[in-house]
Amino acid sequence: MTHTVAGVDIGGTTTQVALCEEDLTVVDRLEVPTPAAAGGTAMVGAALDAVRLLLDRTGATLLGVGVGAAGVVDARAGRVLVASDSFRGWAGFAVTAAVEEALGVPAFLDNDVNAFLRGETAVGAVAGEPQVLGMTLGTGVGGALWLDGALYDGPHGAAGEIGHVPGFGDLPCTCGGRGHLETLASGRAIEARYGQRTGRSLSARGVAEAAAGADDPEALAVYEGAGAAVARALLMTAGLLDVTTFVVGGGVSRSWSLLEPAIQRTLTAEPPVSGHPVRVLPALLGQDSVAIGAAARARAELGTGVRH
Ligand SMILES: [Zn+2]
Repeated sequence: MTHTVAGVDIGGTTTQVALCEEDLTVVDRLEVPTPAAAGGTAMVGAALDAVRLLLDRTGATLLGVGVGAAGVVDARAGRVLVASDSFRGWAGFAVTAAVEEALGVPAFLDNDVNAFLRGETAVGAVAGEPQVLGMTLGTGVGGALWLDGALYDGPHGAAGEIGHVPGFGDLPCTCGGRGHLETLASGRAIEARYGQRTGRSLSARGVAEAAAGADDPEALAVYEGAGAAVARALLMTAGLLDVTTFVVGGGVSRSWSLLEPAIQRTLTAEPPVSGHPVRVLPALLGQDSVAIGAAARARAELGTGVRH
């Protein structure tokens, strides 16, 4: 019988569940809608139903569960601290206690961006790298830090939050601050910046298609600005921490062919003072990255790999 750990990614619209073997190979996976307006019990319940379905379908044995969730979480207590407005009854919810009670195995909780980086350092684009900054360019911009082969989340759980440091212009940010990286490089920012330049309303994906396909210099300029801002954030990190390996995920990173040239131009123009070359890689695990990373946390917490 296959021994597995389950990784769960509870996002605002969908929940991804991946059942993983010892080496984090995905045995089976499922995507279900997140009942975000129905409260924590319903959200975790939907994830639990998906885990049970996968166990039935595969006949595998479950040894533990890792959960990645958006928002601020207490990774030690397994509890959500702060959630966005799109979630009801989620802040304060004791996620790991609910999972452990329902499934009878140990459970662990991480912030979704931290889980993303755990996945990419375990079996993704930066597998085995000891020092990495991970960045997710999604609706917002998330960041996470991997130092000396372990997640470094800092004394307040907010280390690596590169999306909300100032120094990127003067536009108002969703967090209430100004001039943060998120105002230039998130999906929402790309839509807004394109709208300001053209008066036209397009999704970030639509702007990418306009930049790649048709002759649309405004769309190109928006991605150019996003890429240059990402590169400056990487240079800040390289200068401060001597971390020179980066992995970039999230929906906006799917337009890598637009972002990468702008990132590389800025890195070439302003190389880090260490002179050490900067490596920037697109994420490898796609929409499974948070679930696989959550499974990686569970695997690590359960001991040296899954027992046979
Ligand atoms: Zn901000």
